[in-house]
Amino acid sequence: MQTTVDTQSSFEVTDKGFYGHFGGAFIPEMLYPNVEELRQNYLNIIADPAFQAEFWQLLTDYVGRPTPLFLAKRLSAQVGATIYLKREDLCHTGAHKINNTIGQILVAQRLGKKRIVAETGAGQHGVATATVCALMGLECIIYMGSIDIERQKPNVDRMRMLGAEVRPAKSGSQTLKDATNEAMRHWINNPVDTHYIIGSVVGPHPYPDMVARFQSVISEEIRKQLLEKESRETPDYVVACVGGGSNAAGAFFHFLDEPQVRLIAAEAAGQGVNTGHSAATTALGKPGVLHGSRTILMQTEDGQVTEPYSISAGLDYPGIGPLHAHLFDSGRGDFYSVTDDDAVKAGFNLSKLEGIIPALETAHALAVLNELPLRKSDVVVVCLSGRGDKDLSTYTKYL
Ligand SMILES: *Cc1c(COP(=O)(O)O)cnc(C)c1O
Repeated sequence: MQTTVDTQSSFEVTDKGFYGHFGGAFIPEMLYPNVEELRQNYLNIIADPAFQAEFWQLLTDYVGRPTPLFLAKRLSAQVGATIYLKREDLCHTGAHKINNTIGQILVAQRLGKKRIVAETGAGQHGVATATVCALMGLECIIYMGSIDIERQKPNVDRMRMLGAEVRPAKSGSQTLKDATNEAMRHWINNPVDTHYIIGSVVGPHPYPDMVARFQSVISEEIRKQLLEKESRETPDYVVACVGGGSNAAGAFFHFLDEPQVRLIAAEAAGQGVNTGHSAATTALGKPGVLHGSRTILMQTEDGQVTEPYSISAGLDYPGIGPLHAHLFDSGRGDFYSVTDDDAVKAGFNLSKLEGIIPALETAHALAVLNELPLRKSDVVVVCLSGRGDKDLSTYTKYL
């Protein structure tokens, strides 16, 4: 019998939207035309040179890319390896999310859409969406749980100032899941003129692939910058936090097929993996369908989605994107869970060592540095997904 060597990347999405056993498009029939229109067009739109030119120009002049790759000398000395920080916190609006919303608004324009709808939990994705809608002059409707509107007032004010309409989701637990349901309903009722901007590498195909492509600018830049600074394009480790997984997907993307680069994902353990107050999806979850794709999610014995908990709103999600489920399942990625307390400690540590206050989400990635079996010669890139100004009131409770 002939043996064959598999040279095809097993981390690229298939035509039907699968990464290994995960992904796909498990959607109600009424949503099919919208998702299908996007699926049939997104690759051609993105490949168009005019699209690429406009995308890159906005990333450069509006977002502020390329973001620096910063050698953190004092952190390196403390950890005992060479640590670089990919400074997504310096993007316009303070995090990586805008890379995706810029890409999607350009897709929406080319599909002839006049209105944008999105859901938001803590408000970060809502702000990134409202920002690009203002930039392009498109109507913007953001669904947000009533409870989240109370909890996240500064971001609600930002969205309104940017011209978005924030609509409260009053059903269920009045949080992200309910906002998602209402945004979906809105899209079903307005299929012709509306585009739905999903904020992470989650949802039905083609969203996880489309969002990963827009965020892949992060690893594209890392390779170039590392070549300049270290005379090598690949680090030994890339570390990123995972909520839905978009900053991690972007930071991992151009290293997926190089197994010598270890891909490290940090999940939120909340108060502890086994406390019942956690968002450590791979530690606690099982395969199932969430928001239109087959993935790993936290659920009860009878398949009800478990309410997640994390100190950081951006990691407070009961699932992960299907690419990450596949990285976990195949062993290509290593997943660590980080408690609230350890994340906060890592946030203070970076602030005092390097003069950079990281987002609480990002602090989870930084905390993993203490867990890795690092050697002095190792080169590590941490995706610094966002800045911590939004989290000051939480941090200062620990002072
Ligand atoms: C939203 C957010 C995250 C989590 O989202 P991903 O899709 O997993 O990247 C992480 N960091 C920051 C700063 C965020 O705003």
